[in-house]
Amino acid sequence: MIADELRRISKGEVLFDDWSRTIYSVDASHISVRPELIQKPIDVEEVRKICKLCSAKNIAITARGAGTGLLGQSLSSGIVLDFTVNMNRIVEIDDDFVVAQPGLVKAKLDKELGKKRKVFPPDPASSNFCTIGGMIANNASGPHSLSYGNTIDHIQEISVVYADGTSSIIGHGLEPDEKISKMFSLVAPRAALIRRKYPKVSKNSCGYRLDAVLSDRGFFPQKVFAASEGTLGIITSAKLKIVDVPLYRGLLVIGFQDLESLMKVVPAILKFFPSALELLDSSVLWPRPKCFGITSCSLYIEFSGDNLSDIEMKLLRCQSKLEGKYEILQTAFDPISISKIWEARKNALNNIMKLTVGSRKPVGLIEDTVVNPTQLFEYCIFLKRLYSQYNLDYTMYGHVGNGNLHTRPLVDIGERQEVNLLEDLARKVFKRVIAYGGTITGEHGDGLVRSKYIPQLYGSQVYSLFVKLKRIFDPQLIMNPGKKVLFSNARP
Ligand SMILES: Cc1cc2nc3c(=O)[nH]c(=O)nc-3n(C[C@H](O)[C@H](O)[C@H](O)COP(=O)(O)OP(=O)(O)OC[C@H]3O[C@@H](n4cnc5c(N)ncnc54)[C@H](O)[C@@H]3O)c2cc1C
Repeated sequence: MIADELRRISKGEVLFDDWSRTIYSVDASHISVRPELIQKPIDVEEVRKICKLCSAKNIAITARGAGTGLLGQSLSSGIVLDFTVNMNRIVEIDDDFVVAQPGLVKAKLDKELGKKRKVFPPDPASSNFCTIGGMIANNASGPHSLSYGNTIDHIQEISVVYADGTSSIIGHGLEPDEKISKMFSLVAPRAALIRRKYPKVSKNSCGYRLDAVLSDRGFFPQKVFAASEGTLGIITSAKLKIVDVPLYRGLLVIGFQDLESLMKVVPAILKFFPSALELLDSSVLWPRPKCFGITSCSLYIEFSGDNLSDIEMKLLRCQSKLEGKYEILQTAFDPISISKIWEARKNALNNIMKLTVGSRKPVGLIEDTVVNPTQLFEYCIFLKRLYSQYNLDYTMYGHVGNGNLHTRPLVDIGERQEVNLLEDLARKVFKRVIAYGGTITGEHGDGLVRSKYIPQLYGSQVYSLFVKLKRIFDPQLIMNPGKKVLFSNARP
């Protein structure tokens, strides 16, 4: 029995009771897959041995952090490795980087870095739970990615265990291993194709990020693991860039009568270089703050830096540029008030999930598209028209500064007809987004739910590169199957 063999080669807990398998059969998506068993590795050596065993027995192996993925990324019928229990430590903090194990919770890292007035900038709303491994593998981001970039922009080195049990440290300027050399040979002759076919937006978690691996600035092989959803190897630690916490912040919350008027002003606000620019519609604000009055949606506009008067000036100039097309709801400069106001934004998705009644729920499929912010106004009209045609209620919020909209229709997933309708809607939305030069996912990833749409975004030439890449790293197709590239002989 595989559990006995795992116990022989590892000290970490092995679980295969009914209760544990049920708990690990779900993440934050609407689907579930029961794993055969769960193991909690204690160190790299153990991960190597487990991968070797799985490779010899041809068993699927899936890494898991907090399981907050929204598209079924960490769900598998094979062996699930939970890194949150034993491999969850900060290894080293330096002035401009941190080395962390994959199971480290983002909020714990924030707390430690905060003592030195440093931060690892990507700030997903799930940061009280999500782990560094999950953030890298999903290329997570958040409101402040507008000023600091996404997880992919902060990965300096990755330590990884491959499917065959070999391990490697990967980074710019480090000696490449055999797989990394093969990846270079695959990507280098096709740099022009990659440049042409990738979305022209500021964030993207769809497919493999070959555009970031080889760019004008050089070869950055570690970046292939960003957004790879554990399909290329198991991350056992990562060296990540950190930055200073800005000394001051100023936050303005303004309200609008409708989404169209809000979307219209986004490009004008971006000219003032805010550190965050976020949309919340009324469906995500529970309880609704009194100051929001009758406005139907709001914008959070934040400026930050080390010069307070500069921040105040930018806020004032930004306000006067908008010429009264809004209502001021809140303004804050002190850290406590700012944190309180941001809390409502952080709870957005949790509040949306409360709209669930039985099997009718806000379903994530088109919930993470990205377009150029100048296209938001037109895109919003298109989306609202579609929702109205399909007679669907919906929610809308997100990182509008990056053109990244989180929108979910309320659909009864127990009704085949409604599921078909959702897929029909998704095809239309993705077609439009692709025509804009955008991406179907900016930060939430592909997972079991969205991987089948990847060829629609990239086309057959780039998709065939993804298939070849997968075969270089994982020729037996045992690393988190059913995500990214789909093979008929590899079940999730
Ligand atoms: C309420 C809520 C709010 C959210 N808000 C945001 C947001 O603002 N921004 C955002 O980007 N996302 C958001 N998410 C999505 C999700 O939380 C993030 O993408 C997060 O980074 C996932 O981390 P995790 O530890 O839960 O990963 P998991 O869900 O456990 O795993 C995600 C993927 O990472 C892989 N993985 C995990 N560990 C490893 C490893 N060691 N090696 C290789 N692969 C690994 C898994 O196999 C899986 O494919 C939100 C989710 C929820 C539920």
